[in-house]
Amino acid sequence: MLQKEKETALQVVSDAMALAGAIQIELTGCDTLTKTDHSPVTIADFAVQALICKVLSRHFPLLPIVGEEDSLAIRRPEHKELYSKILSYLRKTDPGFDEKGLCDCIDLGGAEPDGTFWTLDPIDGTKGFLRGEQFAIALALVQEGRVCLGILGCPNLPPASGGTLFWAIPGQGSWSIAVRGGSSEAIRASATTDPRQMKFVESYESSHSDQDTQFEISRRLQIASPPEQMDSQVKYGIVASGQADIYLRIPHPASPEYREKIWDHAAGSLIVEEAGGMVSDINGKKLDFSAGKTLRHNRGILATNGRIHSRVLEIIADLDGRNPSQ
Ligand code: AMP
Ligand code: MG
Repeated sequence: MLQKEKETALQVVSDAMALAGAIQIELTGCDTLTKTDHSPVTIADFAVQALICKVLSRHFPLLPIVGEEDSLAIRRPEHKELYSKILSYLRKTDPGFDEKGLCDCIDLGGAEPDGTFWTLDPIDGTKGFLRGEQFAIALALVQEGRVCLGILGCPNLPPASGGTLFWAIPGQGSWSIAVRGGSSEAIRASATTDPRQMKFVESYESSHSDQDTQFEISRRLQIASPPEQMDSQVKYGIVASGQADIYLRIPHPASPEYREKIWDHAAGSLIVEEAGGMVSDINGKKLDFSAGKTLRHNRGILATNGRIHSRVLEIIADLDGRNPSQ
């Protein structure tokens, strides 16, 4: 089931990892723009979205794509140089990439979520990408609000030099592939039950979650090692493969109304669940991918190895002064 979707998506995400990795190494200050929400976007975001949308729409013309980016900025005459640069990178992967088709390919990702659709974050963790650190290419297929295929390309995640690719399908488990000559391996969340030995991961960007409260939770759990900060859905990959036990994302007090975007969690959450871990919001509610581009019925994120999930929810509820709900 979903064999063609899986194979096509794995191939294009793996090509996109090489493309993004090459751009990351050569990136200059001129290759980044600032979006209206003040977040950065780079030539890699546009190139990866164009490449993946082009391939997916060729193979699956009836499946809409809900991508994070659009071509508005690079259509402007003052960004002509960026446009040419994106095109020249794309042509290293796809020599026949049509000059006039670039914006249209990016905008193939402009669909609204409905029924069965792809959701794509071409460069998740753009700030990590800019720092030369972790980022992920996140692609998921959502069917009536259920994630039925999740793929995370993590170009800077060891052990392989080309990075690590994770995928999951409900009922088929979670897998990691060491890009460049690596084999495919089933992965499992950790079996650790003693919180003192657990590893806690959170966003690198301090404005993306409430690190003070998260620190207090790790203190109450008596976790020995300090929380590790890391960008993007690579955190889900780390929990799914047993390299960390808890990923917590409590809304930052400065942005309590922020709602998580579906493309920031669809692929990663399935990969953790299929590896035997658990994912919910910070009230213990299942993530609801049926409500548009955001998880508007959820608040924050908790992903764990499963063994410590209810304990973390209890502590959050206690700090909130309420009973944990399920
Ligand atoms: P991470 O690297 O885990 O912090 O995730 C990066 C993602 O955080 C980006 O793709 C943004 O969509 C998202 N983001 C932006 N602002 C916020 C915020 N105030 N709270 C939580 N997430 C945010
Ligand atoms: Mg993102």
